[in-house]
Amino acid sequence: MTTDSPSPHHTPVVVVGAGPAGLTVGNILRAASVDCVVLETESRAFIERRPRAGVLEEWAVHGLRRRGLARNLLAGARRHSACEFRFGGERHRFSYAELTGRHHWVYPQPLLVTDLVAEYVDVRGGDARFSVRGVELHDLGTGRPSVSYSDPGAAERHVLTCDFVVGADGARGVSRTAVVPERARIARHDYGTGWLALLAEAPPSSDCVLFGVHPNGFAGHMARSPEVTRYYLQCPPGDDPENWSHDRVWSELHERLAAAGAPPLTEGRLIEKRVLDLHDYVVEPMAYGRLFLAGDAAHLVAPIAAKGMNLALHDAFLLGDALVAYLDGGEGAGLDGYSQACLRRVWDYQEFSQWLSEVYHGSATGDPFRAGTSFARLRRLFTSPAAAAAFAEQYLGTAARY
Ligand code: FAD
Repeated sequence: MTTDSPSPHHTPVVVVGAGPAGLTVGNILRAASVDCVVLETESRAFIERRPRAGVLEEWAVHGLRRRGLARNLLAGARRHSACEFRFGGERHRFSYAELTGRHHWVYPQPLLVTDLVAEYVDVRGGDARFSVRGVELHDLGTGRPSVSYSDPGAAERHVLTCDFVVGADGARGVSRTAVVPERARIARHDYGTGWLALLAEAPPSSDCVLFGVHPNGFAGHMARSPEVTRYYLQCPPGDDPENWSHDRVWSELHERLAAAGAPPLTEGRLIEKRVLDLHDYVVEPMAYGRLFLAGDAAHLVAPIAAKGMNLALHDAFLLGDALVAYLDGGEGAGLDGYSQACLRRVWDYQEFSQWLSEVYHGSATGDPFRAGTSFARLRRLFTSPAAAAAFAEQYLGTAARY
């Protein structure tokens, strides 16, 4: 397939964006010998290093495994069986694996993206075009949509006509803006708080995820690898990361995660420091004409409950399978039901993130009523087996139906 022809080139599916969602759809299509082109604005080297998520739910790991996409993950990821809440100067370990037999898997997003690109391009012979510029979607409401783009530094535009466009270009992509407002609703929620997202060159200081609920604000600890740990510190929205010196970061982490009998945190150089203004959105429906949105392009869920990459994979499994079914034999039910099937899990996860946000942030509002109710929610997890079971189900994404 040439990329320098000014005349349109046809491919059944154009996938916009090479994140977990787009690459998973691409891999599913290639496994069924369906041709597609993946367009990505960044370089391959860049997306293979971009740090973000790290927690995968068990059903997502099984979904990747069933599609031949989890070889390295299964060999290298660590299984987590518990998380620990720290509040009131005490440690409260929540052993969800003991309760449910289910686990979380920790596998950094850059490793997953590296695996998915390698499988798509090097093993399944997929066509991926990196560092593209000016991606535009056209004629989505017709039976013959197209996508145009240019190469860096070149004025000439390439045009790909196709049967379907997969909009998997994340929160800042162009696909979502192509959905016409009269045909879709975008529901938004702003938490009114920020998180300083940190990556430290330091080994994890616990065998599990830590949630510190403290009057100064929330603090989180999440292992990424034996050498790198992600930390979060609640901060004002729009705060400048430069306000957070190395010493201030570590002093706040020590204070907010302090608990009787807890080993001290291992400090290290901060290799990422950025402020996330916590917000969510959901596009309904996740389809417009021949465009199907997947992952963060369709719904953003603040990283409060580590759900975003899991939802991106859920969309990709459903969409990849539905496209294959349609393009193979014309079975269109999967595509017709795609949006609704995704949105049920999306809204469930959004609700859980909102619930958890109040647990994390309520005590730092200065409002004694919200502090009282958020501590009541926390205590209930350790006093009521029914509440513990419900929390575990939502935290692990294991409901029998959504
Ligand atoms: P992305 O990963 O954003 O991929 C979209 C791709 O499209 C990118 O490569 C981008 O460069 C490309 N692109 C953008 N615009 C264009 C364009 N115009 N044309 C072509 N390509 C384009 N989720 C979890 O499940 N667990 C976690 O533990 C977790 N932790 C997180 C921690 C942080 C700090 C953050 C920020 C997020 C976290 N998430 C987590 C969320 C998770 O990272 C995202 O939900 C996930 O990356 C979504 O995947 P995606 O494929 O939809 O989008």
